[in-house]
Amino acid sequence: MGWFRNWRRKRILQRHRLDDDTWNSAVRAFRFIRNLSGEETKKLKNLVLLFLAEKEFSGAHGVEVTDRMRVAIAAQACLPILELGLDWYAGWTGIVLYPGDFRVRRSEMDEDGVLHEWDDELAGEAMPGGPVILSWDAAAHDPAINVVIHEFAHKLDMLSGAPNGVPPLHAGMDRRAWLAALNAAYEGFCDAVDRGRDTWLDPYAAEHRSEFFAVLSEAFFTDPQETKRRYPDLYDEFALFYRQDPAGRLKNQR
Ligand SMILES: [Zn+2]
Repeated sequence: MGWFRNWRRKRILQRHRLDDDTWNSAVRAFRFIRNLSGEETKKLKNLVLLFLAEKEFSGAHGVEVTDRMRVAIAAQACLPILELGLDWYAGWTGIVLYPGDFRVRRSEMDEDGVLHEWDDELAGEAMPGGPVILSWDAAAHDPAINVVIHEFAHKLDMLSGAPNGVPPLHAGMDRRAWLAALNAAYEGFCDAVDRGRDTWLDPYAAEHRSEFFAVLSEAFFTDPQETKRRYPDLYDEFALFYRQDPAGRLKNQR
């Protein structure tokens, strides 16, 4: 299976190219992608080509998915795996785009055996073993969040079981160091939310460690210098995991 997939990927890269105009218009709004070096951009474009060949986009509620939309989503989705490889997104294929936030029905049985049901309005959702669902409006127009990186960070987190803020760490990484940095940052963040302080990150990140990981992953790529300033220990762990130093990337450009 491994050799066949590699052969297929090589062939895709030999036979396909990303149209420059489509690429430029798709990533125009994303400074964190325009900031990549020439070498990194080339690598990202190759990953995007493979991503587009292996994933299946569909539009819901009348969304017509264009090439520019596909490339915009793929470019952001592939940034976290730039140094990890596409196999980190193996095991599922679908990406569903809704025009705006979408409603999902939730239910939960409480300790007394009573079933509670409610509706959630979401900008994105990553189903374990299943598709990633995104609001195109949020992906394209909400400057406060990066729903694409957020949901794909959940996908990485899910590779090691139920999402808990700990993706599969690489050999040589120290799980205790990860947990210590994550827990200290998370607890400080929850405390600030409880006290009603300005938290810089979306207070939604206080919901669960997995949400904190996803929200901080957005920040790691889109505002790395501030992430490093506020959470230096966790930034270092993220740099080891993602094998990227986005803050250093900006410094090198000066
Ligand atoms: Zn989330």
